[in-house]
Amino acid sequence: MKKTLFDKVWDSHVVKSIENGPQVLYIDKHLIHEVTSPQAFNELKDRGISIFRPDQIVATADHNTPTLNQHLPIKDELSRKQLEQLTVNCKNNGITLYELGHKYNGIVHVMAPELGITQPGMTMVCGDSHTSTHGAFGTIAFGIGTSQVAQVFASQCLLLTKPKSLRVTVNGTLKKGVLPKDVILYIISKLGTNSGTGYFCEYAGEVFENMSMEGRMTVCNMSIEMGARGGMIAPDETTFEYIKGRQFAPKDEAFDEKVAFWKTLPTDPGAQFDKEYVFDAQDIDPMITYGTNPGMGIKITDQIPDDIENDSFQKSLKYMNFKAGESLINTPINYVFIGSCTNSRIEDFRVAADFIKGKQKAKNVTAWLVPGSKQVEAQIIDEGLKTIFDAAGFELRQPGCSACLAMNDDKIPQGEYCVSTSNRNFEGRQGQGSRTILASPLVAAATAVEGKIIDITKHLN
Ligand code: SF4
Repeated sequence: MKKTLFDKVWDSHVVKSIENGPQVLYIDKHLIHEVTSPQAFNELKDRGISIFRPDQIVATADHNTPTLNQHLPIKDELSRKQLEQLTVNCKNNGITLYELGHKYNGIVHVMAPELGITQPGMTMVCGDSHTSTHGAFGTIAFGIGTSQVAQVFASQCLLLTKPKSLRVTVNGTLKKGVLPKDVILYIISKLGTNSGTGYFCEYAGEVFENMSMEGRMTVCNMSIEMGARGGMIAPDETTFEYIKGRQFAPKDEAFDEKVAFWKTLPTDPGAQFDKEYVFDAQDIDPMITYGTNPGMGIKITDQIPDDIENDSFQKSLKYMNFKAGESLINTPINYVFIGSCTNSRIEDFRVAADFIKGKQKAKNVTAWLVPGSKQVEAQIIDEGLKTIFDAAGFELRQPGCSACLAMNDDKIPQGEYCVSTSNRNFEGRQGQGSRTILASPLVAAATAVEGKIIDITKHLN
């Protein structure tokens, strides 16, 4: 029987099937952080259950870590207590923790792939929606709730109903200045934020085949924003090259054996999906969002739609202080954020530095550059990108989730627009009353330089 990538990985992890009901799925890797793990640790403690397989859990501190002066005690009491609790819980249970300041610390969806923890054919979970990021490796990776974190702690398994399968194919070659972020914003703008509900999505076609691993992570990261349980891309030579030599990747013969197995994972020709969409790369331009969900996106040169009547659309425009039919070009912007698990990898900062080099940040703009991990931070410095950012007046901060969800001090003030490379533009996501405009690192860098949204396509040569 012809199988999809998703079927192959899922079926090989089923421990038990309940007739006409859910299945018990084995989980290879469990990633945890300071926000969603404490309640699960408490639940196990209260019930006298020990952690079943602590060596398959990796912890990091990311959500509410400060991005300045990480060597000093954390001022915010709640954040400090959460990090202390994570340290105690990991120590008591024999779990590896990359705490604040550790050379492997970073956003959970940035540090795990860069350490070679994420590998094709695995099942991975984390108490965090954007766990879908790891699907870029041909991994079934998805976010879970606190009670499920406790389930995995106790059994290394989850009781689940198998999702349906969806394939999004994008053929052709991307235009200059169109980045992976634009590809996923385009897909979500076309399909809507509920199109993937109940499905696991595979991305296929030349655009993804030719994309770097970091770009694939950006795409899979936002699968959840179209409602999908997760996203996946078939592993190939690009995947194997990325993993080879990383800290926790298999070595030598063990690596070759893994590669032989990973090569069996791609979807069989002719395998059936429950739903399919096909797009042409030439139809994709640099994108930008104008509303309060990631599906409210347009080509940067287009106007906000003027033919939508429903209340939520009107409410969204009111919150953003935009009008139907208007263009966002020339909208003044005071805040720019390049960071988050969507776009805080070295390629994102290379793109930004390439545009910024020799230019100056606009005086009105506060521009935060927040690397996704300590390793990315080190790369930015080693490659000389920090020198470019410093000379242009940009602020390179220390790694963490930062203004993606503003659980630390990195908040966008009430009423201000922020052109952001993160994944969610929900009301207040970056601080109470903040107005988020999602875009690629290139569009974000250009906005910071100009102090307003510009038609980036005119500035690429
Ligand atoms: S960067 Fe944002 S989306 Fe990613 S894990 Fe942190 S809070 Fe979640």
